[in-house]
Amino acid sequence: MENGLTHTRHPGPDRCVFAVDGHAGTATVTRLAATPGVIDVLTAPGDQWLSARRVRPRTTRVDVGFGVEVGGDAFVVAAGPCAVESQAVLNDITSVVALGGASILRGGAFKPRSHPASFQGLGAEGLALLARQREITAIPVVTEVLDPRHVAAVAESADILQIGARNMHNFELLKEAGRSGRPVLLKRGLAATVDEWFGAAEYVLRTGNPHVILCERGIRTFEPATRFTLDLGAVAVAKRRGHLPVLVDPSHATGRRELVRPLALAAAAAGADGLLLDVHTAPETARCDGAQALTATDFDRLMADLRPLLRALGRPLASDTRVLAEGNPT
Ligand code: PEP
Ligand code: MN
Repeated sequence: MENGLTHTRHPGPDRCVFAVDGHAGTATVTRLAATPGVIDVLTAPGDQWLSARRVRPRTTRVDVGFGVEVGGDAFVVAAGPCAVESQAVLNDITSVVALGGASILRGGAFKPRSHPASFQGLGAEGLALLARQREITAIPVVTEVLDPRHVAAVAESADILQIGARNMHNFELLKEAGRSGRPVLLKRGLAATVDEWFGAAEYVLRTGNPHVILCERGIRTFEPATRFTLDLGAVAVAKRRGHLPVLVDPSHATGRRELVRPLALAAAAAGADGLLLDVHTAPETARCDGAQALTATDFDRLMADLRPLLRALGRPLASDTRVLAEGNPT
């Protein structure tokens, strides 16, 4: 481009966005705006172009495979163990969440633990167990990737790459995850502002990968009554400011299972596009985060409470629409 300007092209379902870097003078802007096919030229909305709702007015729908979409009309629940522990336990948990209303299976194979002596996850073996569940149950899988060198392997076994809160600022990991082309679930850093969270999303989007899902999981505040402070205000801000779908993780935010239900319902009411939940069939034996895991009964109860709320909000639960679609060929 002229005047030392550089641009990248980002196709989308309704419009193609060109992000131009560098300083464009008024004459260039006027000429671009008059070019046939150009809907709008937006100048100086900050450096976070691609995630802005100003740039793409409609919420991005992220197709995560197996007919599941995040950011569409339906509310999506991703649920499963914090960490993948064994095939038997994962089988049990997958049955509970898949039958109970989840559309996505979560489970960590690589765990970002605060202490090196804590269980670090099963690694490659955990990925294989997740891939097996995906095959048997036909459910998309989300799992965390900690290291750029693992992106290819994780992208092969999982449908969504999770970037954990502790890695939100790991820009090389963000770029590598983006380049995989897989949907990326981007957790908000535990001390990150909304601006920094969107900046991280921009790193992924700029690789040409538009499939980014944001996830609010609580931030560190002065309040120790919950593990983190779930920032539902940030969810409302993110939905207005950006076009990316937003999930909420009330499990990691609260750290306590009895607080998951009220905050899960509040997240739906605040406009979240779905939930990320820790569920375990034997939380007392869980190798990671057992205190925040919902039991099978808790999970079923939460889904039972969520359905009428979603009805009132005019949003079906994704797993219900999927069953309807399969059961009704017309
Ligand atoms: C997780 O979801 O397993 C996790 C470690 O979450 P966070 O990165 O939000 O702490
Ligand atoms: Mn956890």
